[in-house]
Amino acid sequence: MNLSPFRNEPLTDFSEPANIKDMQAALAKVREQFGRTYPLVIGEKEIVTGDTFDSVNPARPKEVIGRVQSGTFDHANQAIEAAHQAFEQWRRVTVVERAELLIRVAALMRERKHEFSAWNIFEVGKTWTEADGETAETIDFLEYYARQMLQREEASRTSLENIPNERNSYRYLPLGAGAVITPWNFPTAQLIGLTSAAIVTGNTLVVKPAETSPVIGYHVIELFYQAGIPRSVLNFVTGPGEIVGEALVDHPKTRFIGFTGSKAVGTRINRRAAIIHTGQKWLKRTILEMGGKNPLVVDETADLDAAAEGIITSAYSYQGQKCSAGSRAIIVEEVYDKLVQRIVELCRQIRVGDPADPTVDMGPVIDEEAVQKITSYIAIGRGEAELVLGGETLELGGGYFIQPTIFKDAPSDARIAQEEIFGPVLTIVKAKDFDDALAIANSTEYGLTGSLYSRNPERLERAALEMHVGNLYFNRKSTGAEVGIHPFGGFNMSGTDSKAGGPDYLLLFLQAKSISEKVA
Ligand code: NDP
Repeated sequence: MNLSPFRNEPLTDFSEPANIKDMQAALAKVREQFGRTYPLVIGEKEIVTGDTFDSVNPARPKEVIGRVQSGTFDHANQAIEAAHQAFEQWRRVTVVERAELLIRVAALMRERKHEFSAWNIFEVGKTWTEADGETAETIDFLEYYARQMLQREEASRTSLENIPNERNSYRYLPLGAGAVITPWNFPTAQLIGLTSAAIVTGNTLVVKPAETSPVIGYHVIELFYQAGIPRSVLNFVTGPGEIVGEALVDHPKTRFIGFTGSKAVGTRINRRAAIIHTGQKWLKRTILEMGGKNPLVVDETADLDAAAEGIITSAYSYQGQKCSAGSRAIIVEEVYDKLVQRIVELCRQIRVGDPADPTVDMGPVIDEEAVQKITSYIAIGRGEAELVLGGETLELGGGYFIQPTIFKDAPSDARIAQEEIFGPVLTIVKAKDFDDALAIANSTEYGLTGSLYSRNPERLERAALEMHVGNLYFNRKSTGAEVGIHPFGGFNMSGTDSKAGGPDYLLLFLQAKSISEKVA
């Protein structure tokens, strides 16, 4: 199979009138499909149980995006059994065929690119540019993992050192049937990233999307069916995480779990996956990517305008609901007041509203529960630091809107400086000097992303060694990792450092076999 070298999918320029028109047409087309009912897919069957829940538009919660099956413990178990049975056949499909499948899915998604972005805008409240960026990233995962798998296969054919009378080789084999459990905040990219990596390596799957983004989940999985994957290889089950997700994790035939989500759920999965159930023949492998409390450190040598812009983008893009969000700004004393003032000025300009409107900078948070959680952190913050901007909910069409919020002068051990809030709340901490800033940056239990704004090369070098995050950025924002360029995954309680979009990611879904043959 001859593929051109990998290139990241270009983003859409929404200053072009033709692109605006296309996006508006996609929004209208998707709107016409609101309220449809979506099935579970288990084995080769589509199952409609009658017991459904609604997925709604967080900007207008009265708008039902779709009705989705509330899957049960039994459905989850049946789905793992189906995936387990399908494994024997799927593992024998050639690598080239599996890679071609991913390329077909990428092509199908590219054809309907704006539609996928539109689902994202309506179901999880992304702005046009955020949704477009995610769609591009999703296509990237498909194109990148297809190429990575072909290269790995070629490399694995290479024989090991032969010794007299012995021929040695080394091959990678798939693991078996796995569970992919994903969050709502990157409903296409996270889901396709894990799914495409697991499928192209020859595993079979049960996919469970988050309860607040199941409709996008179905549309994404449907692309694989359209591209020709047998349904039993890629089962799809919606329903409550604590029932369906837990059953998938616990099943003795589950060989691995690919999870992206919160620390609370990720650590729970880690514990449960370690339990050996009756009939289980293996240790389950877990690939866990969790939250962050990501630091943006600014020293006195930095370009303060660039730092202020980077801090605003990192803290508030997609309402701060990114695992990579820069939710802590740690600024050295010497430039603290000046920079805080610039951050506040920029923050005042953020326009909050329904993200279906292209002029909006920040949309709603995902649901009522998120509003409760974020406002309770804002209440905690009022007692721990000085609220300089925002702090209130907004009444806009009944949606889940929260003002962009800034706390300054927070002690480094304050809860708002240590815990992931997952909303538009920036905590600013003052540091005495660069050493102090570095210590504060490393003081949480997380280690996902981090940025350092400095013009001092020695400090950049020290941060490369000492700032303990999986994705470190110098003089730029902490969000927006690109496939093949910034392999993404975190340290400590941010996860197992499984670097999505990186050259060794597929190994997580494979096991190596060493073969030695005696020859005359
Ligand atoms: P959750 O941890 O709440 O949910 C993630 C998934 O786990 C959902 O599908 C959920 O189902 C499911 N789940 C819930 N309970 C269980 C359980 N007991 N057993 C198995 N599965 C379960 O995270 P969110 O969806 O709220 O996503 C936000 C979090 O994800 C943030 O912490 C963010 O930082 C993190 N994240 C990390 C990324 C990374 O790469 N490091 C990238 C993106 C997000 P249900 O929705 O039905 O409850």
